[in-house]
Amino acid sequence: MSDPIVIIGAGQAAAAFAGKLRALGSDRPVTIVGDEPVLPYQRPPLSKKYLVGEATFDRLLLKPPAWYEANDVTVLTGRKATAIDRTRRVAALDDGQELAYATLVLATGATPRRLPPVIGGDLQGVYTLRDKADADALMADFQPGRRLLVIGGGYVGLETAAVARTRGLEVTVIELADRILKRVAAAATADLVRDLHRTHGVDILESTSIVRLVGTEGHLTGAELMDGRTIAADLAVVGIGVAPNAGLAEASGLAVDDGILVDELARTSDPDILAIGDCARFPYGDRLVRLESVQNAFDQGEAAAAALIGMGGAYVPQPWFWSDQYDAKLQIAGLHHGYDDTLKADGPRPGSHAVWYFAAGAMIAVDAFNFPAAFVTAKKLLEAGKRIARHDIETKPLKELLG
Ligand code: FAD
Ligand code: NAP
Repeated sequence: MSDPIVIIGAGQAAAAFAGKLRALGSDRPVTIVGDEPVLPYQRPPLSKKYLVGEATFDRLLLKPPAWYEANDVTVLTGRKATAIDRTRRVAALDDGQELAYATLVLATGATPRRLPPVIGGDLQGVYTLRDKADADALMADFQPGRRLLVIGGGYVGLETAAVARTRGLEVTVIELADRILKRVAAAATADLVRDLHRTHGVDILESTSIVRLVGTEGHLTGAELMDGRTIAADLAVVGIGVAPNAGLAEASGLAVDDGILVDELARTSDPDILAIGDCARFPYGDRLVRLESVQNAFDQGEAAAAALIGMGGAYVPQPWFWSDQYDAKLQIAGLHHGYDDTLKADGPRPGSHAVWYFAAGAMIAVDAFNFPAAFVTAKKLLEAGKRIARHDIETKPLKELLG
C-alpha cells in the first residue's frame, strides 16, 4: 500500500473528497475516520424533512454503503481521532489504533455553541441540533402543545421553529441581535421571514436574550429574559452558531485562527495536511473566510482532491445557500459582505421577492425569497464574473441580464 490518505471526519466534505479521488481514477488507499456511528450523511434535512418525519435516515446517506466497498474506501465509524503526530505521520484514534498517512485530510466540521451550565444550559430539555442523534432526541420531545423556546434566530432556530409549528408546538424565538438572520441576510429579507413566522403563530422576540434558563428537578421549565420577563418552556433549542473543530490541528501545531488556515489548494501550514469544509478558513478575495454550507464542503472537498493528485487547480468558491421554512424557500447566491446598497424587487407571484446587494456599483449577492429565477440568474452571473449594475436589474428582465 502506498501513499495512504487518512480523512478525519466523516461528513459532507469527507464524502466529496473521497468521491472525487475515485472519480478521477486515484487508487491511493483511503480511510475515513468518523466519530458518529453512521456513514457520511447530509445534515440539511435534520432541521427540515427528517425532523418533520418526511424523510427516513437512509435517504440522508451521501453514498450507499455499497459504494465504499466497491471503491475500496474504508470507513471507521464510531471512532474519534485524538491526536496527530506530524513527525511520525500518524493519526491516533480513541481505541489506541494508529493510522499512518502520507496525506492527512481534516474534515472535522463544527460544534454548536452551547449555553453554559451556570445559566441552565445543561438542564434536561435543552437541545442543540448538529447530528442525527441530536435530531432523534429532539423529535422524541416534539409533542403537540408543548412550549418550545428557540434561542437564536439563525438558520437552525428558524428552521426548527417552522417544523415545530407544523407539528403543533407553541414556539417563541429569541434573538440577541436587533433582528433575525443578521449574519446571513438583509433586513428586508429578515422582514419577510419574520412575517412568515408570525403568520404561522410564532412569537419572535428580537434585541433580547435569556439571562438564564430555569428548571425544576433538573428539567427545563422556562427562561428569564434580559428585559425582565419570564417565559414558560417545556423544551429549548439553542441555535446560536458554531465553532470550527480545530482542536486537533491546533494541538499538533498547525496554524489556526477561527478555523484551520488553508491556502487555495486546501493545504494547511503543513503541506501534507489538508483541511476542508466547515473547519477550514481560506482566502476569498482579499479576506479569509469560513463558509458553513453544503456548497463549500462539497466544492472545496472535490477541489482539494483534484489538486492533491495534480488534476485540478485553486478552489474558486461560488457560495450559495438555501433555507426551507414552511412552504417558503430562501435561496442566497454570493456573499453580501461589504455591500453598500440594496434593491428589493418583487417577483412574478405574490410573496416572491428578491433583495439584490451591490458593492461599488456591482451586484455581489441576492437573497431570493420564493423567487428561484432571481437566484439562478444571480448565481450564473456571479459564476460568469459578469458585472451587473443596479440600473440593469431595475430596467431589464432577468433573462436579458444573462444574455
Ligand atoms: P460535517 O458535515 O459536520 O462533518 C464533520 C464530521 O466530522 C462530523 O461527523 C463530526 O462528528 C466528525 N468529527 C469531528 N471531529 C472528529 C474527530 N476528531 N474524529 C472523528 N470524527 C470527527 N448547509 C447548507 O448549505 N444548506 C442547508 O440547508 C443546511 N442545513 C443545515 C441544517 C443543520 C441542522 C445543520 C447542522 C447544518 C446545515 N447546513 C446546511 C450546514 C452543512 O450541513 C455543513 O456546512 C456541512 O455539513 C459541513 O460539512 P463538513 O464535512 O465540513 O462537516
Ligand atoms: P447562525 O446562523 O450563526 O445563527 C445563530 C444566531 O443566534 C445568530 O443570529 C446569533 O446572533 C444568535 N445568537 C447568538 N447568541 C445568542 C444568544 N445568547 N441569544 C439569542 N440569540 C443568539 O447559526 P445556527 O443557526 O446556530 O446554525 C448553525 C450552523 O448550521 C451554521 O453553520 C449554519 O450555517 C448551519 N445551518 C445552515 C442551514 C442552512 O443553510 N439552511 C440550516 C441550519 C443550519 P449574532 O449573529 O448577533 O451572534
